[in-house]
Amino acid sequence: AKDDGKGVARRFDPARFAQAEQRRHDEDDLRRAVAEQQFEVHYQPIVDLDGEQTVGVEALVRWRHPARGLLPPAAFLDLAEDIGLMPELGIWVLERACEQAVEWQRDHAGFELNVNLSASQLGSPHLIDDIRAVLARTGIPPRLLVLELTESVALTDLAESARVLGSLKTLGVRIALDDFGTGFSSLSHLGALPVDVVKIDRSFVQAMPESATGASVAEAVLQIARTFGLSPVAEGVEDASQAERLRGLECAHAQGYHFAKPMPAPEVTALLGDQSGG
Ligand code: C2E
Ligand code: CA
Ligand code: CA
Ligand code: CA
Repeated sequence: AKDDGKGVARRFDPARFAQAEQRRHDEDDLRRAVAEQQFEVHYQPIVDLDGEQTVGVEALVRWRHPARGLLPPAAFLDLAEDIGLMPELGIWVLERACEQAVEWQRDHAGFELNVNLSASQLGSPHLIDDIRAVLARTGIPPRLLVLELTESVALTDLAESARVLGSLKTLGVRIALDDFGTGFSSLSHLGALPVDVVKIDRSFVQAMPESATGASVAEAVLQIARTFGLSPVAEGVEDASQAERLRGLECAHAQGYHFAKPMPAPEVTALLGDQSGG
């Protein structure tokens, strides 16, 4: 049946069939999860490098899967983005996180919340209205909300990003460029974006104590941030020597397993309680 040379592709292929079935199953599973809100928001502390006080958190989504347990974003975000679920899921995360942050802000004035925006959210015509509605419903002070966008997404269509980020800024929120430094070739365009904060990608942080070149690259990335008037947050700080180096480079804020992993909201509440107590 496959002697015309093209028949190979037409022949029933059990492996491909199984793959397509799996994909359909995964999509249904994820659609149901969004409809049933099977997600949780965890929070990773962002610390002031002097004194290591927690000054804010980054909201990170997890899927509490009924059969598979707690799943990290790497297990489902790409699919969610592919099948158009991200605008809805992203706004759900934003709203939950804002509600929670408002509670923390009651005892900790100025406590900041960072929330990630995906590529499809940036492209959504509803983004500005949705975010305005969340700000109104939760009452979070807009200046305490930092929306994070990866550098690669922001630089894909610079003019469009500048336009959308400009409208976001009219809401009073701040913007962070995530994974900063990984899109180096487009550096000259940085000045075109209304950005307030840069999150120095962990590859630079982790290369720092290893070699002299690693250290000077990290220093150069920090220098660039300063040149553009942006506040740096170092990501992926995993040990004391990295933290020490960053202090030496006068990086004010940092995030990483060395300080704290992402955790459920009650653990952040406990951490903040300890912090104000002593
Ligand atoms: P990201 O925005 O760069 O977030 C930081 C990631 O690095 C988190 O992974 C965090 O757990 C991890 N991390 C923190 N400290 C360290 C460290 O010291 N060492 C190492 N190796 N990793 C560290 P997570 O939670 O698995 O999230 C992965 C990515 O998924 C995030 O990367 C972000 O791009 C995306 N993401 C997570 N939640 C959301 C969301 O609600 N919306 C959108 N659009 N994206 C999200
Ligand atoms: Ca982020
Ligand atoms: Ca990042
Ligand atoms: Ca990342």
